[in-house]
Amino acid sequence: MSKLSLQPLVLMYHGIVSEWTALPKEREAGADLYDVATVNFQKQMEWLEAEQYKIDILNEAAPAPGACQVILTFDDGEMNNYDQALPVLKKCGFPAHFFIIAKRIGEPGYMGWDELRALHEAGMVIGSHGFSHEILTNLLDSQVEEELRASKRYLERNLNINVDAFSMPRGFCNNKVIRMAYDCGYKYVFISDRPRALNLECLSRVAVKASWPIKRFKQAVTGDTPAHERLIGKSKSAIKRFFGEGVYDWIRKTLLKI
Ligand SMILES: [Zn+2]
Repeated sequence: MSKLSLQPLVLMYHGIVSEWTALPKEREAGADLYDVATVNFQKQMEWLEAEQYKIDILNEAAPAPGACQVILTFDDGEMNNYDQALPVLKKCGFPAHFFIIAKRIGEPGYMGWDELRALHEAGMVIGSHGFSHEILTNLLDSQVEEELRASKRYLERNLNINVDAFSMPRGFCNNKVIRMAYDCGYKYVFISDRPRALNLECLSRVAVKASWPIKRFKQAVTGDTPAHERLIGKSKSAIKRFFGEGVYDWIRKTLLKI
């Protein structure tokens, strides 16, 4: 397991979309809440560049992040990551982690092997986001292991790379599934919000939302989150604890729209 003595700020993106972006048909409900407009994404990256933030990736050459650094991550492997996000990242000279749902590679709206190869060649890091995007905490141990191992192997064999990083599908995790990810050979495990009872090392992430103006993005990076949003964060944790993650997921998508 990696030893990450310093917790960097890790930003989590999903879709980067323009008006004419064709989105995959089989997206989870609520996915559009995380679709950042290309023009906004560009403003965010240009601000990081102007402020001289150092953008890190985690790999064999750089196994631990430095102080006060930012890591950029993209979940789900949608085609817009290639045609909207990659040009902006290249222009700013920023590397990033892309977490791919193995089963959806090459499906309409998702990147295929050619795009993944191009990302790798551009200095991006390809990681696994599970084989099928199932919430791991809902599965049997044998199924969790299959999701972790099969997705890693599939990406490694087809791209001829090492896949060292994993991001939890839909963010749900516990000590057991994180332990299993390390046991399957992953060196870095990225999650969303950190559950209270988690005692294993992993990287929490801040989800960049579609609705964020640049001011809110800057607040997320500088750690100056508005008080009412901190309160919402606490309420989310309480709902998860009392009702379980399945109920929380339903409430999030249908009522809270967060
Ligand atoms: Zn996902």
